[in-house]
Amino acid sequence: MGEFGLINHLVQYFIPKVDSTIKDAGDDAAIISPPPGEHLVVTTDLLVEGVHFDLMYTPLKHLGYKAVVVNLSDVCAMNAKPTQFTVSIAVSSKYSVEALEELYSGMLAACETYGVDLVGGDTTTIANGCAISITAIGFNKPEKLSLRSGAKPNDLLVVTGDLGGAYLGLQILEREKQVFIAAPGAQPLLEGYDYVIGRQLKPEARIDVVQLLDQLEVKPTAMIDISDGLSSEIIHLAENSNCSFRIFEDKIPVSPEVQSCAKELNVDPTTCALNGGEDYELLFTIAMDDYEKIKGNPNFSVIGHATPVGEKNILETNGGGVVELKAQGWKF
Ligand code: ADP
Ligand code: MG
Repeated sequence: MGEFGLINHLVQYFIPKVDSTIKDAGDDAAIISPPPGEHLVVTTDLLVEGVHFDLMYTPLKHLGYKAVVVNLSDVCAMNAKPTQFTVSIAVSSKYSVEALEELYSGMLAACETYGVDLVGGDTTTIANGCAISITAIGFNKPEKLSLRSGAKPNDLLVVTGDLGGAYLGLQILEREKQVFIAAPGAQPLLEGYDYVIGRQLKPEARIDVVQLLDQLEVKPTAMIDISDGLSSEIIHLAENSNCSFRIFEDKIPVSPEVQSCAKELNVDPTTCALNGGEDYELLFTIAMDDYEKIKGNPNFSVIGHATPVGEKNILETNGGGVVELKAQGWKF
């Protein structure tokens, strides 16, 4: 199959469904018609084999899904609605057409889950391994977009979902990989770890939260998605907003599955949440006046508040101590 045949083969099941998609893959460029009065948001991410993913324990379908999700999550973190994406792949000759079909089946699943369209890409070869770059597009009204820079002292700091699972899932997968390397043929012991492994291999973008905030008429004063760990994202918000934060350990949402897995691996679940990363939850600030609108909603945990610039970013621990938050997330 030549390059053109391969591209046509891979994209054949992608049927555009989004109103703003005028022309999808197949021409020199895609055509998108912005919804009237809305701004276009665009983001890109490059994933490299051996750096960002390990094909020993990452099924290609999951990789395709996750590669799309991490980009949609960045669009959501602007409080925009993701609509289209392009995908560029560089693959070595060791990849079969079936392997690429698997990768694209994951991207197709993401299109269905999130109601977004694949509208183009680029395909090339590479000496070794593979690299995937996705560029995602979204829209929203200018006044609805949330930057990292709008938090003010006394704003409440809110996180969605629960944290720490993706990191623990990675630890379990790495553990089983080492067992396999030592004894090829050994069956991996993954039972009982479904939740944390799912958080690592199949994260979701919180597009539902963007819709929910709109319904609740809450506009985050600042927002970021959690790709590198809570600590490092809080520091990003603080630096961009010119404020500081104080958070409370007992408010950090950690699921029972994360509690028990952390206990088994002898790690602190709070550390997993603070420094683990890849949970792809949203972290945002709201004006205190908006608290009633989100109060009691199971999607949201208020974990702290913004304080004046110049103060340290502080975690108040369950024991009553205070610890300064440090960025220990992934550097790349
Ligand atoms: P050009 O030489 O103009 O870059 P290509 O042959 O690279 O054209 O691409 C032809 C069409 O196929 C374009 O619409 C492009 O967006 C799309 N395309 C190319 N590679 C991919 C891919 N890996 N996934 C999805 N669409 C692709
Ligand atoms: Mg091209």
